[in-house]
Amino acid sequence: MTVRIDKDRCHGCGWTKEALCERICPGNLLFKGEDGKAALRDSRDCWDCAACIKECPRQALKMSLPVQIGGRGSTLTAMKKGHKIVWILTKADGSKELFEIKNEGAV
Ligand code: SF4
Ligand code: SF4
Repeated sequence: MTVRIDKDRCHGCGWTKEALCERICPGNLLFKGEDGKAALRDSRDCWDCAACIKECPRQALKMSLPVQIGGRGSTLTAMKKGHKIVWILTKADGSKELFEIKNEGAV
């Protein structure tokens, strides 16, 4: 698993110098590239904590899931909804499953 960046969805968090994903990554792996959009320094250093996925307001970051978890070609994105996080599992055929949980880190 590692994080993938959908450059079409990423708007670079244009209102702030430091993107939200850049700010939250505990490994300092994400940064704004020359195109003004998110980039990942080295996917081998990503430990799949998913903090950046929860933080992205555009669902531009996604994680490919192992076959055993989501089926072949499935991905995971997330959306903040108040004090909840909606995890969105998208399968290879485009169908989606949503899981809503409390966002423990919300203030
Ligand atoms: S938080 Fe999302 S929209 Fe903002 S720079 Fe990162 S990937 Fe792009
Ligand atoms: S999943 Fe975690 S370690 Fe990997 S890029 Fe996102 S915030 Fe950083």
